[in-house]
Amino acid sequence: MTAARSDTLVLFGASGDLAHKKIFPTLYAMFKRGRLNVPIIGVAKSNWTLDNLKDHAKDAVRAAGRYDETVFARFAAEMRYVDGDYRAAETFQALRGALNGAVRPLHYLAIPPSMFPAVVDGLGGAGIAKEARVVVEKPFGRDLASARALNDCLHSVFPEDAIFRIDHYLGKEPVQNLLYFRFANSFLEPIWNRHYVRSVQITMAESFGVVGRGRFYEEVGAIRDVIQNHLLQVVAILAMECPVSDNAAFVRDEKVKVFNAVRPLTPAELVRGQYRGYRAESGVAPDSDVETFAALRLYIDSWRWQGVPFLVRAGKSLPVTATEVTVDLVDPPQTVFAADKRTRADHYRFRLGPDVVIALGARAKQPGEAMQGEPTELKFVHQRGDEMDEYERLIGDAMVGDATLFARQDSAEAQWRIVEPILDGKAPVHEYEAGSWGPLQAADIAAGVGGWHDPMTLKPDGSLSSP
Ligand code: NDP
Repeated sequence: MTAARSDTLVLFGASGDLAHKKIFPTLYAMFKRGRLNVPIIGVAKSNWTLDNLKDHAKDAVRAAGRYDETVFARFAAEMRYVDGDYRAAETFQALRGALNGAVRPLHYLAIPPSMFPAVVDGLGGAGIAKEARVVVEKPFGRDLASARALNDCLHSVFPEDAIFRIDHYLGKEPVQNLLYFRFANSFLEPIWNRHYVRSVQITMAESFGVVGRGRFYEEVGAIRDVIQNHLLQVVAILAMECPVSDNAAFVRDEKVKVFNAVRPLTPAELVRGQYRGYRAESGVAPDSDVETFAALRLYIDSWRWQGVPFLVRAGKSLPVTATEVTVDLVDPPQTVFAADKRTRADHYRFRLGPDVVIALGARAKQPGEAMQGEPTELKFVHQRGDEMDEYERLIGDAMVGDATLFARQDSAEAQWRIVEPILDGKAPVHEYEAGSWGPLQAADIAAGVGGWHDPMTLKPDGSLSSP
């Protein structure tokens, strides 16, 4: 497959929730910026006409607050619609006609995973998969076996380099910033190892619950929803060796090496929690033991990271919405200033959302006679947030065949291998108050490294404060 630009975008699931919430507003934004100038073919089975699809897209763009009548009219002129069931061969014959001789379509599967085999077979059977690319949305399976089955299904028609597994988290500006900061500077390298790093923490906190998506969440829980994919990818970026270049294959090679070196997790290093009131949410079983919070400790068996605990925590209904990484450095080997009270390790702090911060935490002397200090932070970067929407970046990359920000087969499977031992739901689920930092038992996970560092809230004036 060449790296030529895709010449048509085919959207399976055009009438679905994700298409409305994310994909249409993104395609419109790309069109407006001049980054998308190919036909867009929606495929669904709603008994729609092309006008229905255009109305649906208009509504989606309006809801995203981006609507401009003139631009939308030009955007809508690029749209086509194919109505039909994905299980029927005629749907794909009709799609073949609508493709109108396009040679390199991008097939975007915004559909339930149970429909993947039907669509992949349909595309193959109609001869419209050759030279094409395919984008699949997470979840890539729900355990190692189903991830393998999904990959086998995709590979029956598409070669690996034509498959783009979206983990939208990788397209986020701050996540890219993390990769950039690590390898665009030399000063980190001498200390970025087990000799100077005491522990690493990653917290992904959401201040809201399942907001109407209880039925979906019942099938996943925090480990499958964000830890197996997003947060393990952050672990990989923090822990990987320097890639040969920023070429997709080299970056993904280094990440997979990290995943292969992560010790499989054990229930003893996991605490699961559920916010009080979750079981009363719509679509949630009254006796559900799905976790809305998980805290775990993992180790990477490599020369660089042997013995350094990586603590990962994610939860809903916590005090703030923020994702933050802190890399705690070891204390100085000798206490020179006896009166000094060290309360916080020197550290690097990477705030990945909602705003972007890269900071070095250190001690500086307080003015006065006493040799006493206080913790202070040197901020390298503090930005309000993402400049380009992650979906825009990812769809743009997939259109030109750049796979750097997508999950490769070996990496998706290795990530499942890591969490597989804790997926059986046997670890007890502890209840916690909505608005707290999760169950009290989570403190045990971080007890050996001085406790969890809770991210702070971003105030309207741009400053941070404790929630
Ligand atoms: P929806 O259930 O809202 O939409 C499913 C779409 O698939 C609809 O357009 C539906 O068409 C179509 N469809 C389903 N079965 C058939 C069939 N047999 N023949 C033709 N069309 C069919 O799902 P979502 O949009 O929520 O999710 C899509 C994918 O994206 C899933 O894999 C999900 O996990 C993933 N995802 C979703 C997120 C979200 O926020 N929604 C976030 C991240 C990932 P019709 O309406 O005509 O039946």
